[in-house]
Amino acid sequence: STQLDIEAIRAEFPVLHQQVNGKPLVYFDNAATNQKPLQVINALKHHYEADNANIHRGIHTLAERSTTAFEDTRKAVQTFINANEAEEIIFTKGTTESINLVASSWGRKFLQSGDEIIVSGLEHHSNIVPWQLIAQEKGAKVRAIPVMENGDLDIAAFSQLLSDKTRLVAVNHASNSLGTINPVKQIIEMAHARGAKVLIDGAQASSHLPIDVQQLNADFYAFSAHKMYGPTGVGILYGKRSLLEKMPPYQGGGEMIKEVSFEKTTFNDIPYKFEAGTPNIADVVAFKAAIDFINRVGKEHIAQYEEQLLTYATSQLKNIEGVKIIGEALHKVSVVSFVVEGIHHFDLGMWMDAKGVAVRTGHHCTQPLMDRFCIEGTTRASFSVYNTIEEIDVFIGALKDIIKKLKP
Ligand code: PMP
Repeated sequence: STQLDIEAIRAEFPVLHQQVNGKPLVYFDNAATNQKPLQVINALKHHYEADNANIHRGIHTLAERSTTAFEDTRKAVQTFINANEAEEIIFTKGTTESINLVASSWGRKFLQSGDEIIVSGLEHHSNIVPWQLIAQEKGAKVRAIPVMENGDLDIAAFSQLLSDKTRLVAVNHASNSLGTINPVKQIIEMAHARGAKVLIDGAQASSHLPIDVQQLNADFYAFSAHKMYGPTGVGILYGKRSLLEKMPPYQGGGEMIKEVSFEKTTFNDIPYKFEAGTPNIADVVAFKAAIDFINRVGKEHIAQYEEQLLTYATSQLKNIEGVKIIGEALHKVSVVSFVVEGIHHFDLGMWMDAKGVAVRTGHHCTQPLMDRFCIEGTTRASFSVYNTIEEIDVFIGALKDIIKKLKP
């Protein structure tokens, strides 16, 4: 009972309409990256055909058009996450670079020996390794919030981990491996009460959940355009102005300076201080079309519909003998991970592909989480707004066939 016309939405995504290995493509690898609507593809094409020029430095017409389009995306992102100012939006190349920026810049200035950084057992490697690197450099320590059997974070244990040594807490809004939606507002309140800053990895939240950085009171919020119907190569870092202004530059180069001499260089204001060099102009410009797409379809409608897909897929999977779902938190984005008794996930993924079904297999860049469940990896199906109940039926049918074929 959705208000969405899914067939009309599917028609906006050319890539969906193809056969893979002689079967209609069923694309269930949306948590890795989702597909792009014509609106985005056309925006990219339009930029190169009509407006392409380097930004900010030029006074000619194309440079002005490119600059305006680039800065329009910044404003659209500001509105999308309800940031207080457009200057608090920094463009990077992805969530990974956004987190590395904070770890390098904020971490280098504010971390000291003996300080602690708390991450969680649900984190993607990109929200673990940058903290390990800076912690090693500074003599700080990385600690992890444990994950409970159902895939929720253990908030009581988090409370125990927090101390006067905690400088920063870095957790995801939603887990890419299990789908768990974390109580980030509560986590932020608890961290702030101990004087720690908080970075939220929103890579898996941005296309599914409402994001209001002011309401959350997040200090930093990172996400990637390519997981929200936008181009690859564009990431966003939101940071509170008061923090960004105190942070040293991440990289040096053009655009991030006010004046350069061999004696002394002064740095530009935010956000430019953190955007050294020519950015990914065309993809940033096209990213606005992705935000427009989400706003047009409506995030609440998307969330409601994806919830239906998740509920249906989960109940179908539970009916199959030998299938075990990993992660059954009450609040999840549309991601379902599972293991099948006696069948390796790589074999399963390969046979799925032979049937036209694209799923992800492996550790999903969350090895500590796999260790927690004593598994090497899972098979993961993840849904976007253009997926259908019929596709889930195809996937379930394929899974049953494969189990019959491969089971010892
Ligand atoms: N965090 C999470 C939760 C993710 O799902 C991903 C992408 N799989 C990342 C971080 C890294 O994003 P990117 O590769 O776009 O930098």
